[in-house]
Amino acid sequence: MFEYAPAPESRAIVNFQKSYGHFIGGKFTKPANTFQTISPATEEVLAEISEGSAKDVDQAVKAARSAYEKTWSKISGSERGKYLYRIARIIQERSRELAVAETLNNGKPIKETRDVDLPLVASWFFYYAGWADKLDYAGLGPNPKAHGVAAQIIPWNFPLMMLAWKIAPALAAGNTVVLKPAETTSLTALLFAEICQQAELPEGVVNIVTGHGATGAALVGHPDVNKVAFTGSTDVGRLIAKQVAGTNKKVTLELGGKAANIVFDDAPLDQAIEGIINGIFFNQGHVCCAGSRLLVQESIQDELLKKLKKRMETLRLGDPLDKNTDIGAINSKAQLDKISKLVKQGQKEGGEVWAPNCPIPKNGFWYAPTIITGVSPTNTVAREEIFGPVLSVMTFRTPAEAVAKANNTPFGLSAGIWTEKGSRILKLADQLNAGVIWANTFNQFDPTSPFGGFKESGYGREGGRHGLLAYLKAGN
Ligand code: NAP
Ligand code: MG
Repeated sequence: MFEYAPAPESRAIVNFQKSYGHFIGGKFTKPANTFQTISPATEEVLAEISEGSAKDVDQAVKAARSAYEKTWSKISGSERGKYLYRIARIIQERSRELAVAETLNNGKPIKETRDVDLPLVASWFFYYAGWADKLDYAGLGPNPKAHGVAAQIIPWNFPLMMLAWKIAPALAAGNTVVLKPAETTSLTALLFAEICQQAELPEGVVNIVTGHGATGAALVGHPDVNKVAFTGSTDVGRLIAKQVAGTNKKVTLELGGKAANIVFDDAPLDQAIEGIINGIFFNQGHVCCAGSRLLVQESIQDELLKKLKKRMETLRLGDPLDKNTDIGAINSKAQLDKISKLVKQGQKEGGEVWAPNCPIPKNGFWYAPTIITGVSPTNTVAREEIFGPVLSVMTFRTPAEAVAKANNTPFGLSAGIWTEKGSRILKLADQLNAGVIWANTFNQFDPTSPFGGFKESGYGREGGRHGLLAYLKAGN
């Protein structure tokens, strides 16, 4: 067996400042009430960022309101589009730097930030730049209007990609925004603020306030916010829904998931194995639409598990900056503890836990790719989102049983189907209660395609024309 030689991406391309303030009205404020942000792979401190107070949030909303009234709602759609194209091109130019920065602060492998996250981030801006002067065709009749100031709150699993999913359609539709990134992964949002300066985006159109949950709550609760867009956990989504109830604020919630990845006995098995691996181990399983419940047809279970384990033994866990790394670091100690606790619970409830023998680095937060077999639908690991590299395996005998088991969850974000029969794909896709369904593939994203869930996975869509509608109302 040949070993892989280390192939680290240089981090010299990234220059973080020692400390960051907020980005309000086109300028960075003086850092205040700072806390450290680290690399989860080494626990090295990367920079200090500021804890946003209610006063900071108020200033950011005021800046956004003023920009909305004075510039952004006054210029034409094609002018707005020009700025978005400019931002998209700068993202492409600085894509390697942004990929390294994201990998440093998040812990995800460079091959993912470089080949998946950053290309998607740029494509989101390009796509919505194209919509900016075509809003009459969005489906709301002529002259649709922006809501005004949008409050946007995003999670840590795809920091820059979630920022793009939020900011690009909001700006194209003519809104101005105040965005709060997740507390552990704010650095690429702050680099994005620099990009807004570089693109000479009118000041106040994009504002970024960093901080913890309380900062997010202050933003959602601000009386001058017209639209709230949240991506994160179902628990916080519930809090936000309560907070805005009875106000005029428009809300979209993109929440958790527990997707079924269903493999039939006629599926091309090697291809399905790659899809299962991608479905649950991509981004350490920190993916809302991860294929975290494998439903395999009973007759092929043994063969599939044998192949799956063999493939898992080849996964390389370690330095996320190494181009050969498949599995990077878990984003935080808190998330690592949550994963460990849920897997122990799964074991206690009768599941059989298996992981390949892979060396775990000394510093940082890591979790080996893991499968749990012998899981039944009532077990905790079949019901709760683990949000880590852990796959719960269940079996089924008939298509009807597969559908019943797949739909037996409070969530409804995504699902996967692996079979050679096209008719079966169409029939099942109709019966599965999930917003996104992939067939003989998994985790495919495209800016033209709407994404979002049912039930406790939230409401509203991001991406495509549907994603634009969340930021528009009918004109008069
Ligand atoms: P989270 O704890 O809900 O946090 C999401 C964001 O909300 C963070 O910026 C967080 O700040 C902030 N926040 C926390 N409490 C708040 C409050 N009371 N009011 C307003 N904002 C508040 O979720 P997470 O742990 O970062 O992300 C993981 C979850 O996101 C998973 O459940 C995953 O499925 C979901 N997710 C869904 C999608 C989708 O499109 N459906 C995509 C990605 C992730 P802090 O960072 O300071 O906590
Ligand atoms: Mg949190």
